[in-house]
Amino acid sequence: MRSLMLAGLRHGFASAYKTIFPGRCSACAGALKDPAPEAPRLCAGCFGSVRLTPEKHCAICQKPLEFDYEIETGQTYACGECRLNPPIYDQRRGALIYEGAVRQLIHKFKYQGASGLAHLLAMLGESKLVPWLAGYSGAVIVPVPLHRSKLLSRGYNPPYLLALRFAHSAGLEVAEGSLLRRIRNTRPQFGLKADERIKNVKGAFKVLNRSDIKGRTVIVFDDVYTTGATMDACCKAIKKAKPERILVAALCRAGVD
Ligand SMILES: [Zn+2]
Ligand SMILES: [Zn+2]
Repeated sequence: MRSLMLAGLRHGFASAYKTIFPGRCSACAGALKDPAPEAPRLCAGCFGSVRLTPEKHCAICQKPLEFDYEIETGQTYACGECRLNPPIYDQRRGALIYEGAVRQLIHKFKYQGASGLAHLLAMLGESKLVPWLAGYSGAVIVPVPLHRSKLLSRGYNPPYLLALRFAHSAGLEVAEGSLLRRIRNTRPQFGLKADERIKNVKGAFKVLNRSDIKGRTVIVFDDVYTTGATMDACCKAIKKAKPERILVAALCRAGVD
């Protein structure tokens, strides 16, 4: 009886504490009086701004389409761009549109030391990305690496932290940092034009253990996909090691698509 009373008191204190000090939304930092039930660390407004990538898309690059060819005809539809000029990867997928609260969360996660946001970000993108990843059992996930000097100053690699969570949910393996290495410290891609981005990361990556990749399905993983210059440079390095196929995954998709 006494323990029940104590538990009741503790619960009462906890809810009173939450009412007086509601905590802060992880995205907008506003008082968390009205958390979204699906994501208790986000306010309802921020959660409402989270948008998944569209259902109807090109089977290769995930570019949105006006109609769902797969459902209507039972065939896979590739967009004109992919048919005329096939990308270096076999398939690309992203989970979230890079806007609103997602954009704020990514900024804190990547540039303000909030490594703990990996959990919340992965949770937001899980429904979209995990079923696709899980369809490639035995694949190895390769996070886009940071240069050693950047890793030392930042203390963590954001794509690696996200990849760990997605790999766990999809039952896949994450490659250790020695597999794909960034051998040149490049300028940040932010603010560069498309052709400058390609030049900036050209030859910046190298596979150190080719035998770990040969004949396997490799999934290159990044936090945000913008023009794809970084991903393409990673894929080029990986292709030299003769994988069975290369897939590209990013939590968010930004840009013109
Ligand atoms: Zn908020
Ligand atoms: Zn396409």
